Amino acid sequence: MIEKNYILALDQGTTSTRAIIFDDSGSQIITYQKELKQIFPQLDWVEQDPEDIWNATVEVIRKTLSDCADLGLKVNTIGITNQRETTVLWDKKTGEPIYNAIVWQDQRTSKACENLSNSDNEKLVSKKTGLTINPYFSASKISWILDNVSGARKNAEAGRLAFGTIDSFLLWRLTDDKVHLTDATNASRTLLFNIHNQKWDEDLLSLWRIPVSILPEVRDSTSFFGTTKSGLFDCQIKINSMVGDQQAAAIGQACIKYGAIKATYGTGCFLLMNTGEKPKISKKGLLTTLAYRINGKPTYSIEGSIFSAGATIQWLRDGLKLIGSASESEELAKSISSNKGIYIVPAFTGLGAPYWNSVARGAIFGLTLETGRAEIARASLEAVTYQSYDIIKAMEDDLGQPLQSLQIDGGMTENDWFVQYLSNILSIKVARPRILETTALGAAFLAGLDSGLYSKLEDIENLRKKDRLFYPSIDETERLKLLADWKDAVQKLTMFKPLQNKNLNKE
Ligand code: ADP
Repeated sequence: MIEKNYILALDQGTTSTRAIIFDDSGSQIITYQKELKQIFPQLDWVEQDPEDIWNATVEVIRKTLSDCADLGLKVNTIGITNQRETTVLWDKKTGEPIYNAIVWQDQRTSKACENLSNSDNEKLVSKKTGLTINPYFSASKISWILDNVSGARKNAEAGRLAFGTIDSFLLWRLTDDKVHLTDATNASRTLLFNIHNQKWDEDLLSLWRIPVSILPEVRDSTSFFGTTKSGLFDCQIKINSMVGDQQAAAIGQACIKYGAIKATYGTGCFLLMNTGEKPKISKKGLLTTLAYRINGKPTYSIEGSIFSAGATIQWLRDGLKLIGSASESEELAKSISSNKGIYIVPAFTGLGAPYWNSVARGAIFGLTLETGRAEIARASLEAVTYQSYDIIKAMEDDLGQPLQSLQIDGGMTENDWFVQYLSNILSIKVARPRILETTALGAAFLAGLDSGLYSKLEDIENLRKKDRLFYPSIDETERLKLLADWKDAVQKLTMFKPLQNKNLNKE
């Protein structure tokens, strides 16, 4: 009998932390997951407790390893994938975070970003990072912590603090509390990393007033990052990949060829299109970012994001208490035959690509006395498909040709009604893998690649299971009418000036 090899993927997402064991043929063997508490200290602020993230990480890894031991399976390597941009600063001596993790959705620095956002700075940032000045990326969050936590700036300048996205923070703790590394995909989301020469950039560091000493060293996404420290788990395991979650999903979906595109519908939705070895600059407000870096060779992608995708469904469940579970949104959407003129623009934290409007806030259009739960649930799901259309259109313009199909994954794509509607609105074939854990699969694959279980990037194509395909079935006139109504709703929303945040906070 041929012995199988096993890989542990740690997927530290925005709403949960998961450990998944894959065998070397890409089959998912064991999964443990722990929900992550979100902290909302003020309007527009979103934090998480780094100790919660750490404890959940240890718990899910221990459980999976214990099941592996019971089944006699030996885990060869670990791959880490993580929510990107979320920012932690910790004391290098004690390993204690000096503030909560500031989550990518957090908008507290929107004023600071607005102040820096003149045309010279925007040009500089866009040329070097492929990004735009926006609170969503790590740099302004780091500056905020340095300016607002007592003694932080002084300690940072004295070399006593470390900054990391979640990959770095977990690596520090998983190894022997002195390994300070990240990978190029995570670095490319900080606003401090030059994606052309693959180095932290002095001009950007001085723009954000961040001392270079707090930054991790940047490695390939496939690298030997360290070995888990002795005593933490029953055995010590090598860590052979770290990669941002969206990039991991693109790999898990085998988007390794020029023009291949995937969309992950989790808390937010992220669409990535592989653009090969040269960075392509979008003319349509999309971002240029690293897809992966292997053997020192960067591959680039264009990215568009919807800030609130599954988060809108979470809001229906936890905020409005309109549904008992996320899956109930499907039953409700199915129960009516049209949207009855209701459009929701879920700009809870502003609008992402291609609008990049951080002051806009959400709205519901077309309310009547007949509007009920079904209409609101359906409009919420529809909104995510219209926003996807806006981004795909921009990607097609950048690519100069229409897209043929879209690979999808993420929690929201369990909803069949949503996926069919997405195919209708995009008017293209949508492919959903049978295993939705493509993010974890991508991280596991990269760890396997680095540790020699696979020989080349193309091997990922053999690990993927067959997709379920959804084809468009909608009248073209109706589709165009829905898109025109959506466009109208977004335009009306951007004309509305919400109250200044500081006034709202006083209440
Ligand atoms: P993340 O990795 O960002 O934590 P996941 O990929 O785990 O996100 O997806 C979770 C999100 O998907 C939640 O925001 C949830 O509201 C949404 N979701 C889960 N199931 C469904 C469903 N059946 N219909 C619509 N949304 C769903």
